[in-house]
Amino acid sequence: MNSKIWLSSPHMGGTEQKYVNEAFEANWIAPLGPNVNGFEKDLETFLNNNVKVAALSAGTAALHLALIECNVKYGDEVICQSMTFSASANPIAYCGAIPVFIDSESDTWNMCPLALEEAISDRISKGKKPKAIIVVHLYGMPAKMDEIIAIANKYQIPLIEDAAEALGSLYKGKPCGTFGRFGILSFNGNKIITTSGGGALVCHSQEDKDKAVFLSTQARDDAPHYQHSQIGYNYRMSNIVAGIGRGQMEVLNDRVAARRKMHDFYMETFRDIDGVEVFSEPSEDYFSNHWLSVIEIDEAVAGKNREGLRLAFLEDDIESRPLWKPMHLQPVFRDSPYYGQRVSETLFENGLCLPSGSNLTDEDRQRIATVIKNYFSK
Ligand SMILES: *Cc1c(COP(=O)(O)O)cnc(C)c1O
Repeated sequence: MNSKIWLSSPHMGGTEQKYVNEAFEANWIAPLGPNVNGFEKDLETFLNNNVKVAALSAGTAALHLALIECNVKYGDEVICQSMTFSASANPIAYCGAIPVFIDSESDTWNMCPLALEEAISDRISKGKKPKAIIVVHLYGMPAKMDEIIAIANKYQIPLIEDAAEALGSLYKGKPCGTFGRFGILSFNGNKIITTSGGGALVCHSQEDKDKAVFLSTQARDDAPHYQHSQIGYNYRMSNIVAGIGRGQMEVLNDRVAARRKMHDFYMETFRDIDGVEVFSEPSEDYFSNHWLSVIEIDEAVAGKNREGLRLAFLEDDIESRPLWKPMHLQPVFRDSPYYGQRVSETLFENGLCLPSGSNLTDEDRQRIATVIKNYFSK
């Protein structure tokens, strides 16, 4: 029996345990210490552009703090890309705010600038200006940042970039996560690098970072006793977890190269199969880390559908997954406003995420290619 091929599994580089051992030797078993500082430095160096990074317990926590720093309060409205993982939208609800969902456009599958502007002017005409915009770089593909930044600037609304899936991706040569007022990163187990669980907030001033660290460590005022004048959170990254992150940063560029090679492999595999498109950069302005390789199947042309391929993979113990179900179609967000057409809905119906791990072998790729060829030739 062949072993299971996962969609995206952790891939250690080899030096992670050295950093974890250092934490044990120095007894830094806490949500602070040299690994936390070191990991933040590594991320700042990698992202460049003078950013300040706060290492946190999760990407979701980073988004929550970004919203708090953008002064999002109970009853406010926050604009969010509809096609994304629920963790992009949940922190809006944590704040007691209301998400306003925006459709995707078909080049990058990310937030449609036209629907974004339509939503902003409609919400303003209804008496409420949105407090923030959350744009996502889905599967590593940068969103149309020039257009989105122009709209955010025009209406003076802070932009939060959910770059949880896009560490190592570039738009016009600049790293995803560094464009917005805040960017967020995730190091969950299935991401391009992982700390087992963790995240980071990318800031553009020391003040914004200090505020995030303050809020993430229970908002303790400067006093010898424990005094609080604000609600705090327990969101700081552990020094053990950060040790894994330092090791992973040493291999991040290799991981990006390996994921991009998986995308090349799928381009080659689907070259002669009609009605299947491998999701790719729309122009030279975009550089995706191809965290996940994704296809869209046109059933009318291919005579096959994504569910059939998913089940064919499953039979050979290969994991694949439909795209993120858009948030405006989720039962939990059914009362939220939505702007757009059916772009994200159609992508959800026809798209499939394929095994994309940086640790897949030639033998794995052979198995994957065989399932694909058999399925589409039947
Ligand atoms: C993984 C992910 C998150 C959440 O990150 P966690 O570290 O798991 O909390 C947020 N947004 C997107 C788009 C993600 O893929």
